[in-house]
Formats: sequence, structure tokens, C-alpha cells
Amino acid sequence: MTLYPKLIMDALAKVRYPGTGKDLVTMGMVEDNIRIDGNKVSFSLLFEKPNDPFIKSVVKAAETAILTYVGEEVEIKGNITVEAKQAARPEPDKLLPEVKNIIAVSSGKGGVGKSTVAANLAVALALQGYKVGLLDADIFGPSQPKMFRMEEARPYMVEVGNRELIEPAANYGVKLLSIGFFVNKEDAVLWRGAMASNALKQLIGDANWGELDYFLIDLPPGTSDIHLTMVQTLAITGAIVVSTPQEVALADARKGISMFMGEKINVPVLGLVENMSWFTPAELPENKYFLFGKEGGKRLANELNIPLLGQIPIVQSICEGGDNGEPVALNPDSMTGQAFQKLAENIVKQIDYRNEHLDPTKRVTVTKK
Ligand code: ADP
Repeated sequence: MTLYPKLIMDALAKVRYPGTGKDLVTMGMVEDNIRIDGNKVSFSLLFEKPNDPFIKSVVKAAETAILTYVGEEVEIKGNITVEAKQAARPEPDKLLPEVKNIIAVSSGKGGVGKSTVAANLAVALALQGYKVGLLDADIFGPSQPKMFRMEEARPYMVEVGNRELIEPAANYGVKLLSIGFFVNKEDAVLWRGAMASNALKQLIGDANWGELDYFLIDLPPGTSDIHLTMVQTLAITGAIVVSTPQEVALADARKGISMFMGEKINVPVLGLVENMSWFTPAELPENKYFLFGKEGGKRLANELNIPLLGQIPIVQSICEGGDNGEPVALNPDSMTGQAFQKLAENIVKQIDYRNEHLDPTKRVTVTKK
């Protein structure tokens, strides 16, 4: 293969700078110094500032794009130099200094309604008067922009104190950042592994979250590197685990709970949320049909000695609310709105109780089945 600068430029034109959504070439970030020596390619990327929050992820994206679009044999790793137009600024001492409680929303498997619960919980807490932020860390299928009807949002940079920060988008009283704001769906494959972890760290530490009572993280399903990154990056107050009452979902929920309680992660589990607990047709409001089995979530919670924080029925409006970008929790008087209000109240109580009574060094352990 013969390499030439245009091939490299074409690959770099496929990488977007998350701060503006434009590609690196259009942004004028690729310096005119591409050197090619056999398979070895090196050049510089020019950033406005040396503490640009996207440096690491952009360099990684550039490397991946070259390997993907030019060829795997290209020697590029470690050959991209970063240059900045301006001088360095101080780093912050601590991540999220003004955030009181951080809640990880997780699930053992996909499709059980984790994102739906996270979105509605965020809205319910905001309606109760709390300051709420939501980080959509579900890199495999970031759905919060759609659930909050903010698919078109492109967060911009703001100057806070002496730092440039990403301003979260906001709707329904909830501040939101999602990887989905920064990546084309078809480029999502480029945002896996270390790169996704770095991007998420930036969305936490280099964003203008400000003062928050509750910061929710919509985690990817199952157990992944992202979970590790999040617990290593943040002092998480507690995790909630969402599951349907179905046996296969509960088995995975159990694994998720063990992971949080295990030594490596060691995050308190605030409790289980049973979603899709039963179906009630609008015309027969007294009837409950237990499509996925009855009270499986309750049994698992009892067995593991963790609270059952809520039971959310299957209701068409919950699904429609997600698709239309209008979470049902916006209507707190509806049957579904009440279910989420109750869930929010239980979580607040659970956290308050833990803060008052529990020694955070003592954790309950889960026995594997
Ligand atoms: P996950 O984040 O676990 O993958 P989602 O929140 O994306 O799951 O939910 C999967 C699908 O199920 C979505 O279409 C969502 O609208 C729907 N859904 C979730 N919970 C409910 C519910 N309680 N009633 C009706 N539909 C629901």
C-alpha cells in the first residue's frame, strides 16, 4: 500500500470534534505537517487550549479512523502530536465538587427499561424541587437525547471561572449530557473501550454541572469497563438496579448487584426497581396481568436483603412518552407519574437513611447462586 497525505486527510475528515460537531479538517485542526515514512505516519493536531477536554478522545478517534479507513498496517499509535494555541490553565482539585448525591442506574440486561426509569426518575426528582443532572453513559445505545426530546442539542463550551466547560443541555428541569450528542450513530463503533471511558470522564469533569442534589448516571447494561471507570472516577452514593420480574432478567440483575457489592467496585446498592411488573388495560383498571411473572423482583430483593424501591407497571404511555420525548413522570397525577414519584421518594429516603445510619465501610455481601 502506498500512503499519501490525502488518504490521511480523508480519514481525519470523518472524525468530529465534539465541541462543535464539525470534522477535524474543516476545523483546521490538522497541521500541514503530515510525514510519511514507509508505513509510519505522523502529524500534529492543533487545539485552541492545552486543557481542551476532548484532546484524548479526539487523538484516539483520529488514530482509530486512520486504522479503519486507511489500513490496519499504518503505524500511527503515539505518532500524533498535540499542539495548543494558548497557554495552560489549572486543573480542578476535585470532580463534581457541588454535587451532593450520585446515583448509578444499572441493569443486568438490555431492554428492561433502565433508561426509561433513569429519565422518569430524573424528571420526578426535578418535580420534587431537587436540582438534577443526568449523564447518559449508555454508550451502546444512548437513548436519553430522544427521551428528553433533545436529539438536536449540541452542547457548547462556556467559560466558568478560568475554565472552559461543556454546558449540559437542559429540559424538564434536568441537565443532560450524552455521548449521543457528540457522535454520529454510524461512527459509534469508534467510541468504544478506553476512548468511551475518556469521553465520559470529560463529560463528568469538564462539564458545567454546577450545584446538583442528584446526579444520575444511566450506565450501559450488564458489567463493562465503563462501570469500572465510573466507580474509579466518582464517589458514587449508591446504585439502583432495574429488572423485569422475569427469571432471565432477575438472574442478570443478581449478577449486577454482586458486581456493585463486590470488592473491586464496592458501591452500596440502594435497591431494586421492578419494571414491567404487570399490565393493566386502560378499560379494566382493576385488572393486573403478570406477563413476566408475579413479584419476581420482590423475591430477589427479599432474598438479597435490599429494598424494593418501586414497581412500575407496563403502560403504553410509558413507551410512547419515551418515543415522543415526553417522560410520563411529567404528569405526576397520572397512575404512571405516581409510580415514578413514589420511586423518587423511596430513593431519597433510602439515601437519607444511609447517610444518617449506615457505616459506609460495612457492606452487605451477596452469595452467588
Ligand atoms: P434499557 O435502557 O433497559 O435498554 P429502555 O428504557 O430503552 O430499556 O426500554 C426498552 C423499551 O421498553 C422502550 O421502548 C421503552 O419505551 C419500553 N418500556 C420501558 N419500560 C416500560 C413500561 N413500564 N411500560 C411500557 N413500556 C416500557
